[in-house]
Amino acid sequence: THPIHGRIDGPVVMIGYGSIGRGTLPLIERHFEFDREKLLVIEPGSEACALLKERGIPYRQEALTRENYREILGEVIAPGGFVVNLSVDTSSLELMRFCRERGCLYIDTVVEPWAGYYFDTTDNAARTNYALRQTVRTEKAENPGGTTAVSCCGANPGMVSWFVKEALLKLAEDTGRDVETPASREDWALLMQSLGVKGVHIAERDTQARAKPRPRDVFVNTWSVEGFIAEGFQPAELGWGTHETWFPENGNRHETGCHAGIWLGRPGAITRVHTWCPTPGPQFGFLVTHNEAISISDYYTVGEGRDPQYRPTCHYAYHPCDDAVLSLHEMFGSGRQQTVHEILEPGEIVTGIDELGVLLFGHEKNALWYGSRLSNEETMQIAPDQNATGLQVTSAVVAGMAWALANPEAGIVETDEMDHAFCLGVQRPYLGPVEGHYTDWTPLQDRWEHFEEDIDESDPWLFRNVLAS
Ligand code: NAD
Repeated sequence: THPIHGRIDGPVVMIGYGSIGRGTLPLIERHFEFDREKLLVIEPGSEACALLKERGIPYRQEALTRENYREILGEVIAPGGFVVNLSVDTSSLELMRFCRERGCLYIDTVVEPWAGYYFDTTDNAARTNYALRQTVRTEKAENPGGTTAVSCCGANPGMVSWFVKEALLKLAEDTGRDVETPASREDWALLMQSLGVKGVHIAERDTQARAKPRPRDVFVNTWSVEGFIAEGFQPAELGWGTHETWFPENGNRHETGCHAGIWLGRPGAITRVHTWCPTPGPQFGFLVTHNEAISISDYYTVGEGRDPQYRPTCHYAYHPCDDAVLSLHEMFGSGRQQTVHEILEPGEIVTGIDELGVLLFGHEKNALWYGSRLSNEETMQIAPDQNATGLQVTSAVVAGMAWALANPEAGIVETDEMDHAFCLGVQRPYLGPVEGHYTDWTPLQDRWEHFEEDIDESDPWLFRNVLAS
C-alpha cells in the first residue's frame, strides 16, 4: 500500500499531458485523496487526448493562451483546488498569479513563458532563465504570502536543490563538523561558505537507450523534445561565484535583479563543460541553462548584490541520453530543427539509468557527487507510464504537492526554500539508489596534453578550467 500524502478538497486541474503529465497523474491518484469527478486535464494535442479518452480521464482539448486562460481556467478552478502545470508554452507567472487570486494551489516544473518567447526575439538577455526567474521573484516580492504556488519543482530544477542540502549535511559530517540542520536561508549559505564549497554542478548522465539506432532527422530524447530544444537554444547560463578570477570573453552580466547569474553569447546545448558523474567518471556535459543554476547561487549567497562576501558558482552539466546527443549534433550542424520528435518509452528502453546529482566542489574533500541513480528497469517496477528520467521529475512534483498541502499559505516558493527533508522523504521511494560519491578528479585532470589550453592551474575549480575550449 502506498502512503497518502494529503487531501485535495477542490478540483485537480492538470495542464499538459505529455511525458511528464502521463507519469504524474497515476502518482497523484496513488498518493492524494481527491474527488475524481473534479479532475480535469487541459491538453491541446490530439494524440494525448485520444489517450485521455481511452483511459476515461476527463479532459478539455484546448491550448491555453494569454487570451483564453482566464476564461478556461476560471470555469474550472476553485479555492482548495490544485493546478498542476506540466505543459510547454504557457506562462507560469500568469497562471500562478491567477491561481493565487482564486485561492487555488499551484505547482510547475519550470518558469515557462507563453509560446514564442524563446525564439521571437534577438535580445538574448531577455531570453535567459535569469530574466524568467526574476519575473517570479518580483511577483513574490510584490505579493508576499498568500496561497502557495510552488515554482520549478521537478527533478532539476527541483529535487536537486534538496540534494544540495543533503550533500552539505553529509559533507559537514564527513569533515567532522558538529552542525545542526540550518533553519534559515542565511544559515544554509553560511554553512556552504564555511565548508569551503566553491561551486556546484548539476551533474547528470543519462545512459538510457533503445535497441533501434536513431533514425536521421528525428530528435530523440528521454523527456520533452520541445522543452529541450527551447532551453538548448537559450544562451548558456550559470550562477557566478565569488571564487572566479577570470571572466569569459562572451560573458554578460545583468543590469537588474539578484545579480547571481551571468550568460554567455552562445547556445547552452553546444557549450561543453568538464564534469564528473559516478558511472562515466570524467565526462563532457552541456551548459544548458536552468532555473536552479541561478536559484542555488542566489540562495547560498552571503551578502548581496553584485559584490557579495560569498556566492557559489552553479550550473547544469548535462550529458543527455546518447540519442539526444546525436540529435543535438544533427540539429546544430544542419541549422534545422527536426520535425519528428520521439521520447523513449519505458518499454522500448533496453538499458540505462538516469544518474542525476549535484557535484559540490572545491572543499577539503575536493568533490562530492550526491544524487539518484535510477534505472529504467526499476522504474518500470515501481511506477507506470514513464522512464527513469520521468520518475525523477514526477516524484518531485508529488513531493512538492504534499508540501504545498501541508503549507497552503506559504506564498510563492522555489524548492530551495522548502523543507528538503520532508520533500525527499516523500520522494525517496521513487529514486532508486541515492548515493554520495567522493572523487579526487578535478577539471585539470585527464586533459589532452598535446595542445595548449586556456587554463589556470592555481585553482582547478575555476570556471575557466571547467569550460571546454
Ligand atoms: P511534452 O512535450 O512531452 O508535453 C508537453 C505537453 O504540453 C504536450 O502534451 C503539449 O500538447 C502540451 N501543450 C502545449 N501547448 C500547450 C498549451 N498552450 N496549453 C496546454 N498544454 C499545452 O513535455 P514533458 O516532457 O511532459 O514536459 C512538460 C514540462 O515539464 C515542460 O515544460 C518541461 O520543460 C518540464 N520538465 C521539467 C523537468 C524538471 O526536472 N524540472 C523535467 C522534464 C520536463
